[in-house]
Amino acid sequence: MRTTTIFLTSLLAALLACGEPRSVPRPAAPRIEQIASPAEGIFANAYLIETTDGVVVVDAMLRVSDADALRARIAALGKPLLGVLLTHGHPDHYNGAAIVTAGRDVPVIATREVDRVIRADDAAKEKQWKPMFGDQWPAPRAFPSRLVGDGEVVRLGGLSFRAHVVGPAESHSDSYWTIDGLPVAFVGDLVFSGTHSYITDGHTTAWLAALERLAMAFPAEVTLYPGHGKPGGAELIGAERRYLERLRVVVRRLSPNGAPLGDAAKAELVAELARLEPGLTLDFLVGLGADAVARELAADPR
Ligand SMILES: [Zn+2]
Repeated sequence: MRTTTIFLTSLLAALLACGEPRSVPRPAAPRIEQIASPAEGIFANAYLIETTDGVVVVDAMLRVSDADALRARIAALGKPLLGVLLTHGHPDHYNGAAIVTAGRDVPVIATREVDRVIRADDAAKEKQWKPMFGDQWPAPRAFPSRLVGDGEVVRLGGLSFRAHVVGPAESHSDSYWTIDGLPVAFVGDLVFSGTHSYITDGHTTAWLAALERLAMAFPAEVTLYPGHGKPGGAELIGAERRYLERLRVVVRRLSPNGAPLGDAAKAELVAELARLEPGLTLDFLVGLGADAVARELAADPR
């Protein structure tokens, strides 16, 4: 009997030691709604997770009008907003947080690393993009008000939202969120779905490694909620890996020394990707980030 007790105690300790609880009671599945911005808002997604007690939002859109629409949708549900979770520190995911939370005592929650990126880059991003977006660039913007670490759980609306730190990948520091007991993951821009990828931060090597880890992290039946484009299954991870591998091959060929590509080479890169990965939108992202990837590959010639 004692042996059995010790065995069970050890087993329990081993299970608890894992970052992911193995036997979490499956909570009542919340309703998850995708709010997608139009092309002018670069198809950025936010997600509403509606529980019996209220609404949790993942990411907060780029433009004023898209954040206004998100706020209106929350209001239409007639339930309190409980929190805003951010996946990463790019403006198309946090810009609208101030609009969504205005007048409410609601936390904006992110990992410490994501918070650091937002605070470090916010002014430069505004300088770069406000001339293009004008009045659609939100001011003021809200920075995270509650910070979490890797594996930390935030309880909202009776659900356990778990933060996962990824490190540099699509941005200088990515994270994703899961809900304990449910096969869902809000992966931000770790995968793009039906669009080209933002590659300007130049971490494609680390991104590919992160995708390899992600592929093993989720159950087969997982639904991934991406930062752009339609939700899908685990196949989105394989598609993103293939896209980045193909992109890197063409960039290496066009810029073997890491030199900037020039307009003709960028056009060739876009055309080649259109041939290899037909039907993707947002092809301006390719030219925008090509030089960063060329530099990255030249510095890491593998
Ligand atoms: Zn994005």
